[in-house]
Amino acid sequence: MIHAIWRTGDNGPVSTLRIPTNLLPADGRFGCGPAKIPGDALARLAEAGRTWLGTSHRQAPVRDVVARIQRGLLDLYAAPEGYRVVLGNGGSTLFWDAAVSSLIERRSAHGVFGEFSAKFAAASAAAPHLDEPAVVEVAPGSVALPEPTADADVYAWAHNETSTGALAPVQRPDAEGLVLIDGTSAAGGVPVDLAHTDAYYFAPQKGLASDGGLWLAFLSPAAVERIERIAAGDRWIPSILSLQQAVQNSAAHQTLNTPALTTLFLLADRIDHVLADGGLDAAAARSRASAEQLYGWAEAREWASPFVAEPYRSPVVGTIDFSPEVDAAAVAATLRANGVVDTEPYRKLGRNQLRIGMFPTIDPADVEALCACIDWVVDNG
Ligand SMILES: *Cc1c(COP(=O)(O)O)cnc(C)c1O
Repeated sequence: MIHAIWRTGDNGPVSTLRIPTNLLPADGRFGCGPAKIPGDALARLAEAGRTWLGTSHRQAPVRDVVARIQRGLLDLYAAPEGYRVVLGNGGSTLFWDAAVSSLIERRSAHGVFGEFSAKFAAASAAAPHLDEPAVVEVAPGSVALPEPTADADVYAWAHNETSTGALAPVQRPDAEGLVLIDGTSAAGGVPVDLAHTDAYYFAPQKGLASDGGLWLAFLSPAAVERIERIAAGDRWIPSILSLQQAVQNSAAHQTLNTPALTTLFLLADRIDHVLADGGLDAAAARSRASAEQLYGWAEAREWASPFVAEPYRSPVVGTIDFSPEVDAAAVAATLRANGVVDTEPYRKLGRNQLRIGMFPTIDPADVEALCACIDWVVDNG
């Protein structure tokens, strides 16, 4: 089983197995970020590029697109009264440091259940102006939520842990403190009740079918109040990490410094498309259809099984463990050599596993085709 035939290419061994073309998915992009961007959106980008790309982000045409993104997101998520959409450059990774600078007053409490939730906890732990964070951690494959902690003023965890494919509940803990949720891979594909969050932050290159480089956050009135209070104190806050400056710029539909206009265009285009197409619930249903397909397929194979146990199995990021006689890395390399890409597991997890993006842009029929391709590779390798 899967000892594929190899030759040596410029980047190491390359599989020479050719999957029959009638089995291949129409679109071979199954990455978890950057993730598939539909071709028609790219065509609209190319068209807009003639007059819109390469123009000032301080002028109306670009600011109008930022405003459309802000309005569209509030609409898509039925945001509670008073919530606003704030954005800036640097992706979700920057938002962790911005939160350390601008949102955590003294001490944060974290649920850690994979690489991304661990990174925010590490950023807080490294900050000299904060107390040691309170961390509840579990091994990858399950979910950990922060525990009510007397002196914590922020509670943080990931909605969807992209490194493992575990989806966590988003519900305020029974405690005072702001709730900061990393929605990076959930955004656009998993509904959430924003009333349970004070900052629901994300980047648009995963379930929102755009490109990277930007962070966005729904901020509650309590979060904005905290940001203003910390900014008024004597803490040194670099401009790029200042959420107060981000709040001010976002109110004018701008960012502190130059954003990638391509990212803004594709994001606005995607939001409009989802709104016109049944909203977040309809988008989420597509991911659920893909997930049922993938997990059902794995459960029916003796040599494959879903990594994450219910009820935490993600509808947008599927992780499938293989038994030792099937070499997942060889399967992924063979798929890649056939134009089916980014099924490799999260690099630091180190499991004999494939990880499959199932964002709403990905056609459930393509997930079905992917499963057939894996079957073929395992049978013929
Ligand atoms: C991808 C990802 C990030 C990092 O996003 P960047 O935009 O690359 O900084 C953070 N958290 C989660 C859950 C992610 O999936």
